[in-house]
Amino acid sequence: MDAVNETADVIVVGAGVQGASIAFHLARRGVNVLVLERGTVAAGATGRSSGFVRMHYDLESESRLAWASYPYFRDWAERVGAGDCGFVRTGFVMLVTEALADHLRANVAMHQRIGVRSRVVGPDEVAGLVPGMVADDIVAAAYEPESGYADPTGTAAGFLAAARALGARLVQGCRVLAVTVEGDRVTGVDTERGHFGAPIVVDVAGAWAAELAATVGLEVPVRAWRHDTAYFGLPAGRTTDFPIVIDDVNQSYFRPEGRELMLVGLEAGNVVGGSPDRPLAPLRPEIQEAMVARVCARVPWMAGGTFRTAHGGQDGITPDQRAIIEAAGPDGFYLACGFSGTGFKTSPAVGACVAELILDGRATTVDISAYTHRRFAEGRTLVGEHPYGSLWR
Ligand SMILES: Cc1cc2nc3c(=O)[nH]c(=O)nc-3n(C[C@H](O)[C@H](O)[C@H](O)COP(=O)(O)OP(=O)(O)OC[C@H]3O[C@@H](n4cnc5c(N)ncnc54)[C@H](O)[C@@H]3O)c2cc1C
Repeated sequence: MDAVNETADVIVVGAGVQGASIAFHLARRGVNVLVLERGTVAAGATGRSSGFVRMHYDLESESRLAWASYPYFRDWAERVGAGDCGFVRTGFVMLVTEALADHLRANVAMHQRIGVRSRVVGPDEVAGLVPGMVADDIVAAAYEPESGYADPTGTAAGFLAAARALGARLVQGCRVLAVTVEGDRVTGVDTERGHFGAPIVVDVAGAWAAELAATVGLEVPVRAWRHDTAYFGLPAGRTTDFPIVIDDVNQSYFRPEGRELMLVGLEAGNVVGGSPDRPLAPLRPEIQEAMVARVCARVPWMAGGTFRTAHGGQDGITPDQRAIIEAAGPDGFYLACGFSGTGFKTSPAVGACVAELILDGRATTVDISAYTHRRFAEGRTLVGEHPYGSLWR
């Protein structure tokens, strides 16, 4: 295609699930959108995501973003109308240490107040949710029967297919080098394939978001965060009839995948910082061993499982591990980045909010006014009302 001198109303930089959702929500409101992607759709965090769709957070606005997103996953065909997000309803269980049991109870009360179907369950009931699970160290757990997991690549592709059906354009293999500005106004972007003009540019570049923001003189505290996951085969006779579990006690998580696999992740081994361009490293043996040990401590029958395959991914992370979603810098420049390892499940609502911010001046789907990059300099970091302190909060 002849890229040079193409124009749009809005340029979205990055075709991960967040950029795709933003493009969809803008296109739905009649905006002429151009999505520029340096690699391919879902080449970043999205393609490596564990795909959890749950509402349990210790910060109300984050639960609200997840809850406002949930109907898209549940009713994808109706709400988006293209592709398939691959939602599988499994239920979700959050396990915390005894010391955090009161925080969990307070968080579940908050979730119930905003409409989420969630309840506190004791050790006997939680043990029954995952056959054979050890729960004698659990005083209180949270259970969300409606939650599950979805296919992040399928979700991004579906949003983009719907956006393109509404007139949006997507250019892959097109790295944005800099945002161009005249006076105080954004005028477009310079890319490897020439200049594209637009009065509005959205930086949804994941782990590369700070690099792009720096081209308009903005210092945004988003660093690369790397996280390993692995698939294990279930032992003979076991089925994937169990919910997603975040096990804060053992700093690990697992969920079913298809009919014979378990996906496992853990907080140990995560690496923050470094260039997002360096290659992803293979799974270290000690991390693989820790995954096995922690899952088997909770579900002893997984000792008969088999290691299948591992992969790592990277996302952009902020100092308080919450996103940045705002208009910042020159007129027409927007940030939607720093999703800190949890930005798949919130992508539908974030897309709706960013479209509202651009078109109406204020997001109404969820109040995102606290998600500014200035909060770090101003000492107003986002901390949960009843914090857990770990990454999955
Ligand atoms: C291993 C792992 C597991 C996770 N599990 C979960 C989970 O279970 N649930 C959940 O909710 N979240 C999860 N997350 C987080 C979630 O996947 C991310 O927050 C989300 O995918 C971020 O989407 P994004 O579109 O902002 O970023 P990305 O998917 O990283 O997309 C950014 C895109 O921008 C492109 N890009 C960058 N720079 C440029 C440029 N200069 N020009 C053009 N294009 C550019 C990149 O190539 C990339 O495709 C996980 C993340 C990882 C890494």
